[in-house]
Amino acid sequence: MPGKSTVTVHADREIHPGRAVAPPIFQTAAFSAEDAPAFAAGAVEPRGTDFYTRFGNPNHAQVAAVIADLEGTEAAMVTASGMAAVTTAVLALVSAGDHVIGQKSTYGGTASVLLNLLPRLGVDTTLVDQRDPEVFEKALVPTTRLILVETPSNPLLQITDLRAVADLARAHGVPTLADNTFATPLNQRPADFGIDVVWHSATKYLNGHTDVSAGVLAGPAEILDRIWDTSLLTGATLGPIDAWLLLRGLRTLPLRVPRHNENGQALAEALSRHPAVSRVHYPGLATHPQHKLALDQMNGFGGVLGVEFAGGYETADAFLGALRYPRRSASLGGVESLAVHPASMWAGMLSDEQITDAVPPGLVRLAAGTEDTADLVADALAAADTAARTTA
Ligand SMILES: *Cc1c(COP(=O)(O)O)cnc(C)c1O
Repeated sequence: MPGKSTVTVHADREIHPGRAVAPPIFQTAAFSAEDAPAFAAGAVEPRGTDFYTRFGNPNHAQVAAVIADLEGTEAAMVTASGMAAVTTAVLALVSAGDHVIGQKSTYGGTASVLLNLLPRLGVDTTLVDQRDPEVFEKALVPTTRLILVETPSNPLLQITDLRAVADLARAHGVPTLADNTFATPLNQRPADFGIDVVWHSATKYLNGHTDVSAGVLAGPAEILDRIWDTSLLTGATLGPIDAWLLLRGLRTLPLRVPRHNENGQALAEALSRHPAVSRVHYPGLATHPQHKLALDQMNGFGGVLGVEFAGGYETADAFLGALRYPRRSASLGGVESLAVHPASMWAGMLSDEQITDAVPPGLVRLAAGTEDTADLVADALAAADTAARTTA
């Protein structure tokens, strides 16, 4: 098996080969068929490339080929956003009367699917503290049909023991779905630990340039076929141009991730020594309560860290305002550093109680880009000084 940098450049070569070195953009909503049997076959081919773009498009298949190789799965598919990926997968795999287990610390949109959307459709959900693998077993009931995990989690960087959850789920015949957005397949491959389906907000590291909204799912063809079937109904189709941009972004993922890892580690170490900072959440720190587990299942710790200010909401906000390079923005995973105050970002998505459980008010989520490490560290330390001074 070739290495990851080789795979990201060549895995899609056989899909619509031609003389163009860069893949063409198939900017078409539909494809024509030679005859009735060809037309009928195209209509039922999961993730096909030649029927109708909502069913599949060559640009989709090119991205999927790279993702499946990177994640070490049989197949992959693309969607219009990360949320389209998780919602479509969940709708494909559960029905009214079923039960789903998710995490307490998880991306706000995923939390809302678990707390709001699914209960409305007659699906019971239990959210567990994923730091303890035994709580997954305790949450299992005879109707449990799906377990959703996310590690490291957004925004607290808590780690889920992927092997423990996958083993437990397999023993009970329950499929598992893992959000691998923060780690990327360079830092962690959930399928290697027995997770069934891996999904990403490809809007983040996979595309890497903050210019596309996209999602991907990777897993066994049999499960992806069912998700693809439901995707025809949710209709969250990735546009061909966006798929093409995502493929272009992906090509450099193996070059970008090591720099994100370096910057995340350096910022976490420097900020954890600053007097205004009460705690830094970053799995690469030896002081992270789950550092050993992170070392066991990750090859790198990513560019995202949670920085908690002793001064609470006000100091966190002053820190954001004083940063020179990271802009205040909801995204992460691009070449540019971004920072956000999760407690205010999620105010519209979750209830006050749900927010207090998931995000401390003094927490800033810092997403290190690929800038020079020394510049980011100096900027963050100066901003922490300013924040401490102005809110003392
Ligand atoms: C951004 C994000 C999502 C949602 O993805 P979209 O592409 O914005 O729909 C899901 N999970 C995590 C961890 C994220 O950071």
